[in-house]
Amino acid sequence: MLDFDLLIIGAGPAGCTLALKLANKGLRIGIIEKDLFPRSKICGDALSGKVINALKRLPDGIYQDFIARVEKTPSEGIRFIAPNHHHIDVPFFINYKKVECQDYDGWVPLPPTFKEIAEPPGYICRRSVFDQFLFSKLSAYSDVKVIGGKRIRSAIINDDHVVITTDDNEYTAKMVAGADGVHSIIRKNLSSPIVEKRHFCLGIRGYFQNIANLHPKNFIELIFLKPLLPGYFWIFPSAGGQVNAGFGMMQNQVLKRKVNMLRLFEDLIHNHPLLAPRFANSTLIGKPEAHSLPMGTYKFTRSGNRFILLGDAAFLVDPFSGEGIGNAMASGEIASSIILDCFLKNDFSADALNAYNIRIQKRFGQEFRTTAIMQKLARFPRLMNLVVNKAGKNRELRELLTAMITKEELKKKLTQPGFYARLLFR
Ligand SMILES: Cc1cc2nc3c(=O)[nH]c(=O)nc-3n(C[C@H](O)[C@H](O)[C@H](O)COP(=O)(O)OP(=O)(O)OC[C@H]3O[C@@H](n4cnc5c(N)ncnc54)[C@H](O)[C@@H]3O)c2cc1C
Repeated sequence: MLDFDLLIIGAGPAGCTLALKLANKGLRIGIIEKDLFPRSKICGDALSGKVINALKRLPDGIYQDFIARVEKTPSEGIRFIAPNHHHIDVPFFINYKKVECQDYDGWVPLPPTFKEIAEPPGYICRRSVFDQFLFSKLSAYSDVKVIGGKRIRSAIINDDHVVITTDDNEYTAKMVAGADGVHSIIRKNLSSPIVEKRHFCLGIRGYFQNIANLHPKNFIELIFLKPLLPGYFWIFPSAGGQVNAGFGMMQNQVLKRKVNMLRLFEDLIHNHPLLAPRFANSTLIGKPEAHSLPMGTYKFTRSGNRFILLGDAAFLVDPFSGEGIGNAMASGEIASSIILDCFLKNDFSADALNAYNIRIQKRFGQEFRTTAIMQKLARFPRLMNLVVNKAGKNRELRELLTAMITKEELKKKLTQPGFYARLLFR
């Protein structure tokens, strides 16, 4: 008799979403996590609309509980600051509507009354709080057993089961879901051991009190500084008047330029003309910490015989924005339906689980192609200056940008040369 039907490795957003979607479905689920919760996770802490929508699709009032009880800061938009220091504010509210008729297929502006929506589409929520919230929900389900404080060391596939080894134990199951983050043992052991550096970004963040000139509506700030391109510096207002600030850079550039992330962070906040005055009276809480982000530019097989990879383990971070929580949760959702199907058919072969690869490709393929191009374009400071300058003078264009950033099908326009050519003459 095997210990479990399904073993999930890692209790971050991907692993918890998968467990919550599969709870009460007749499977014996084990979830092995190296840390003891609540635990901190190095992150910008920004929860986009994708996360909020994924929470809404979780069972048993989890979304309502998140809205009612979890400490978080609502955010109503993004402030983009171009390398020339000009900025535009892009509210999340969509003021555009898709119109399809005989002689027109496109987006039209709505009258201003349609702007108001009931909830802010995004939040900033410390990962120690958000991850603990999702993790705590697992205890409601007797068919989900949490094995906490155990780091897995290896995964082996046998004829009819998998064997997962921790420092002091072995666990068996019919299949395993690797939700064990960027340095996933499941990925390294069962799929893709080595990945080129160009598919990673490095991020560093710290918490600060007393940063000057925060946006009154808690817009998150993406500050495109020349030395970081296509990465950016961020300032995200967080609970209790604190701020999560940090920056991301492509890992190959960090290595090529021999960048010391901590030193560069300190240099920017003390000396950069845009940042230094804002950080002048600030206090750093704790110490800055760095971690890698696995970008969706890496294409590989995200499932195989008796295994499936989710979230960061599957390289599902948006190559332009660095957003990964919503995608991790989405992969947990997609995996849940494929896994249920496998158990119904008692088929855990690579062929059966390839349905997951196909669904992931369908969900993220075009989106990542688009955002990878956006990431490439963001290497050109002049192009970023042009977009921000033009949009700063033109409300209609700003609203179009909002629609483009929040609507996938419009995002594609941002990657088309014609869009920038038209901008020049606007
Ligand atoms: C600096 C930085 C800033 C970021 N900012 C944002 C942001 O603002 N918004 C956003 O959406 N995304 C952001 N991201 C990306 C986001 O943090 C990840 O994409 C997201 O956490 C992925 O969720 P996950 O569940 O796949 O992995 P994780 O959250 O990493 O969870 C993996 C879990 O697996 C456990 N684990 C790992 N190894 C083992 C092992 N061997 N045995 C057992 N357990 C193990 C870990 O302890 C962890 O709990 C940022 C990332 C970084 C590094």
